[in-house]
Amino acid sequence: MSPLPSREIRLASRPTGVPDASNFEAAAVEIAAPAAGEVRVRNRWMSVDPYMRGRMVDRPSYVLPFQLGEPLQGGAIGEVVDSADPAFQPGDLVSSMLGWREAFVAPASALQKIEPREGVEPQAHLGVLGMPGLTAWAGLFDVGGLKEGETVFVSAAAGAVGSAACQMAKAVDATVIGTAGGPEKVDYLRSIGVDHAIDYRATPDLKAALKQAAPKGVHLYFDNVGGDHLEAALDVLRPFGRAALCGMISVYNDEAHSPGPSNMPLIVGKRLKLRGFIVFDHLASAPEATRRSAEWVRDGRLTASETVVEGIDNAPEAFIRLFTGDKIGKMLVRL
Ligand code: NDP
Repeated sequence: MSPLPSREIRLASRPTGVPDASNFEAAAVEIAAPAAGEVRVRNRWMSVDPYMRGRMVDRPSYVLPFQLGEPLQGGAIGEVVDSADPAFQPGDLVSSMLGWREAFVAPASALQKIEPREGVEPQAHLGVLGMPGLTAWAGLFDVGGLKEGETVFVSAAAGAVGSAACQMAKAVDATVIGTAGGPEKVDYLRSIGVDHAIDYRATPDLKAALKQAAPKGVHLYFDNVGGDHLEAALDVLRPFGRAALCGMISVYNDEAHSPGPSNMPLIVGKRLKLRGFIVFDHLASAPEATRRSAEWVRDGRLTASETVVEGIDNAPEAFIRLFTGDKIGKMLVRL
């Protein structure tokens, strides 16, 4: 078996502020044939996700930082080319954390086989049936305790996690308020059933817009943004309301800590419960989340909206677009 030519994207420098093309470099490599217990895979799809920005900084966190000169990592769906492990056959679809490269060889233990499901595209395993979908499920149900009939506010609602959270909340008959940037995203949110879609960029007073959408207040805030969105949410949460703190993308490119919400005393007065979470602590929920989500995909209650960028060389651009908001749903790179 001859080596397989591949290209990969490496971290060239650590970003200051919003990442740009100079932080990335492409490299040509050759992927050796698999040794015993290994599998060689050609990636078909790879994911870019906001948490990767945190891994570009050299500081202790819940995941190790990326190393300069090394290929980046992230979720990917690929096809087995050849295998020296009996659990995998050529043609099998597999998911791994070895994205940002066209092909790789890895121990079989680094791969999960994807069983084909009727009506489900393979790349959905990077979106509604993958990490973003489980994140939405964990935030709404494990952490947020969402119940039928409640009102939930989701920020970055037109993104991968946000759009899944909005649709899952609708599937259990919640009332959903979603914020997103721009009229196209507001139209999209309405198309997936969001009851009150707010263009936060065109709204001078987010608190007032939320109060208008939910005069009786919000039971649960699903926070993807932090900053002014979290502050506005504290204002509209009902007494004993909850917030599932999933991400704070508004501060990921800040070089210094930004001030917290100015209305924190409301947390005491309203007896609010705010809880941060990381999806990897919720893997026990994955079987139920995936089963229910696959049902909702099949019956149309959960649609897998995607923005697709072509080719490994455009993966950095796809990643940077997460921070400019220039995309709808899950941002994917087709390889
Ligand atoms: P998205 O697909 O939502 O992409 C990011 C979106 O965030 C953009 O499209 C943009 O939408 C919005 N955004 C970017 N910058 C800002 C800003 N300054 N202020 C307000 N909105 C902004 O990403 P994901 O759905 O993959 O992730 C959403 C959040 O969930 C992130 O914070 C991420 O880190 C977090 N996350 C957390 C996990 C966990 O385990 N806790 C796991 C996975 C994700 P718009 O145009 O509407 O502004």
